[in-house]
Amino acid sequence: MESKYSGKCKVCGSTWNVGEQMFYQKDPKVMCNKRDCFESQGGKIYEKSFGGNSFVKKSSRLEISKINLPNMDKIQTNMTKIADEETIQFFFFKKRVMDHGGSEIEAGMLWKTACDRTR
Ligand SMILES: [Zn+2]
Repeated sequence: MESKYSGKCKVCGSTWNVGEQMFYQKDPKVMCNKRDCFESQGGKIYEKSFGGNSFVKKSSRLEISKINLPNMDKIQTNMTKIADEETIQFFFFKKRVMDHGGSEIEAGMLWKTACDRTR
């Protein structure tokens, strides 16, 4: 995510400025702009499982167009608003999608879409 504030990692001492890419997790609180450091502190990066290359993104979009769950537009709009706030919210997002009859994979793809929209 892009940082809304400048900050400093309490573990490795690395610093970042507003607008720079960094990793943030609310609970437990972990933040660093170095991925390795973030992960070594227990931070989870959910994007990882959906890949960072264009092929994966492309196929995810195709799959999303097939999803036809009730209230999905509403969920997606809500999620778009909060997607850039906390990566940890994915747990709640996933639960909501599954409550509406979606699968875990669909939840992941929608989350990725919501995150992309906020960038
Ligand atoms: Zn660090």
